[in-house]
Amino acid sequence: MKTLYEKKVVKFGGSSLASAEQFVKSANIIKAEESRRFVVPSAPGKRFDGDTKVTDLLISCHTKSVSGGDWSADFTEITSRYNDIIKGLSLSIDLSDEFETIREKISKGTTLDYVASRGEYLNGLVLASYIGYEFIDAAEVIFFDVSGKFDANKTNIVMSQRLAGKKNAVIPGFYGVNPDGSIKTFSRGGSDITGAIVARAVVADIYENWTDVSGFLMCDPRIVDNPRPISIITYRELRELSYMGASVLHEDSIFPVKLASIPINIRNTNRPEDPGTLIVTSTDGYRTEDLITGIAGKKGFSVIRIEKDMMNQESGFGMRVLKVFADLDIPFEHIPSGIDTMCVVVNTADVKGREYDIASSIQKSVNPDHIHIDNNMGLVAVVGRNMAGQPGTAARIFSALARKNINIRMIDQGSSELNIIIGVDESSFTRAIKAIYKEFCS
Ligand code: ASP
Repeated sequence: MKTLYEKKVVKFGGSSLASAEQFVKSANIIKAEESRRFVVPSAPGKRFDGDTKVTDLLISCHTKSVSGGDWSADFTEITSRYNDIIKGLSLSIDLSDEFETIREKISKGTTLDYVASRGEYLNGLVLASYIGYEFIDAAEVIFFDVSGKFDANKTNIVMSQRLAGKKNAVIPGFYGVNPDGSIKTFSRGGSDITGAIVARAVVADIYENWTDVSGFLMCDPRIVDNPRPISIITYRELRELSYMGASVLHEDSIFPVKLASIPINIRNTNRPEDPGTLIVTSTDGYRTEDLITGIAGKKGFSVIRIEKDMMNQESGFGMRVLKVFADLDIPFEHIPSGIDTMCVVVNTADVKGREYDIASSIQKSVNPDHIHIDNNMGLVAVVGRNMAGQPGTAARIFSALARKNINIRMIDQGSSELNIIIGVDESSFTRAIKAIYKEFCS
């Protein structure tokens, strides 16, 4: 595995910078390697269960202020969070003027995006002062266009020029600037995106995303006790797993680094010795032995089963059925089919209360012999790039389920052989995941 990196972008999540103690851990990580040159901080997150993130306190100030409420207590809490960190680190930086500017702007009715972004802005100032890196305001290097969309091209050009030749810098996460100069934030958790954008702009060797878990786990820890961590995963596998509900990373943050083929390493600030999970475009050059990379699943699916004798000879049948779903604006997830049966798997939430409309539209469109709608299906995705071309993998999954007496309601395997999706009754969902995990991962 490649271990010598010259240029790293390191993003620290809210829990990694929630207190002076966490700042010390993050700074030690940064200082441990000279290659950790570009740092993207989040706002201070939760220090303990039940604590409030600074971003949420800021949002609360804005909400209360626009409705004429009293936001002074929230604002005082925000200032004490930063002052505690500054004091705990014995820094000489004084944020009083910054606090005053923000307070005044809130009083005058500034935008929610501006207020929400100040958590990262202030944390960036504190971190830059603590580690002695240059502070670069994200508003100078991250751009949105007139329609409010992130302007990837302009950002990449401006940011790469701005950071070229810099030894190091701290660029706060989560926000950028609109063409009119006002601040705009990404969606919640968006500092992940900033980290990826910076990594692309400086053509980093790796994007390290420091958080409070040691990477992705092979399975949901609420279902399987102590699942093994995933050491290496491809971007495509990650997409399959996160679509099925497994994620510790903001989805949009994958795009800029994937585009530039930069690996992401998810690491744990509280356990820096753990290698974490490495997300790569291709596993060429990496040793990977596991047949299965991960297992994820979601409940809440419905199957609409349409039966018609000699269906297979009717050209355009499938197209007409899918047009019904498109016209009703219902996205479909899978379409497992037989000779005289076509099934459309959809999210139950999208069809609830609309069963009659769906059935009558299908009736009109393709005149089937029967239409059934079954709810309560859970889908389990078994994902693994190494499954391709390995005979017997599906058989092992099915035997593991059969041994536990679990009935399989649906099977779907893409021809890329990257995943096998199994539909089971919601009542056997948890048992199915446990059985598959036991077969392949323990
Ligand atoms: N502070 C922002 C949030 O809480 C962004 C981030 O942490 O990534 O969503």
